[in-house]
Amino acid sequence: MRHSIVAGNWKMHKNAQETTDFLNELIEKLPSDKEVEIIVAPSFTNLLIAAKHLEHTNIGVAAQNMHQAEGGAFTGEISADMLTSIGTHIVLLGHSERRQYFKETDSILAAKADTALKHNMRIIFCVGEELKDRQNKQYQNVVYYQLKDALFHLPKAAWENIVIAYEPVWAIGTGETATAEQAQEMHKFIREQIEYQYDRDTAESVSILYGGSVKPENAREIFSKPDVDGGLIGGAALHPDDFIAIINAV
Ligand code: PGA
Repeated sequence: MRHSIVAGNWKMHKNAQETTDFLNELIEKLPSDKEVEIIVAPSFTNLLIAAKHLEHTNIGVAAQNMHQAEGGAFTGEISADMLTSIGTHIVLLGHSERRQYFKETDSILAAKADTALKHNMRIIFCVGEELKDRQNKQYQNVVYYQLKDALFHLPKAAWENIVIAYEPVWAIGTGETATAEQAQEMHKFIREQIEYQYDRDTAESVSILYGGSVKPENAREIFSKPDVDGGLIGGAALHPDDFIAIINAV
């Protein structure tokens, strides 16, 4: 069901000790009365630490990536079974850094989505256009094809386990944020495409997060928009106080 979510994407930051310290501080300072799902996505090596640390809390743990194969000769890769076996049942897929630096295409991402769902994992699926697409007024087209080519083959029931994160590439780690109006326009567009492909109930049940330079100062305005259900936070999720301030902005 559609609900508010704030997820922290730690990218390649924090070692084991830093992970433990961050989580201790988060648990201690987190307000208990917020109606928002909180997720952290540490690196693979810290997932087990995080899963154990957060076992008795309602903070979820997500992986930042996984391989589409069930197992086999894929040196350096991590499977869905490995993740679920250590209590990680959420995975980020399609982050623009994976697309850009690791050449993950829509068809690879479609295969990853299939594998994750087969293992009953939830997916936070990232979409977003580059600056040139926005300048050429192709931004909706680009996001439409990212959704279509990676997710629209899925049956309706699969959408119970999918969260979309709209992350304009030009706003990630740049300090440049989409305006709340730009975010709302795209979130509404995404919800409409899900409605056209499936139906209104499905579209209304999907949580759509915004990501790209969300900070305590701008979170409240972005989150106030009707189709924005929370955020996927990079840089500002690395500091407990900033992360909590963003959670409080929901
Ligand atoms: P940022 O990253 O908040 O540092 O811009 C967001 C993301 O990449 O998920």
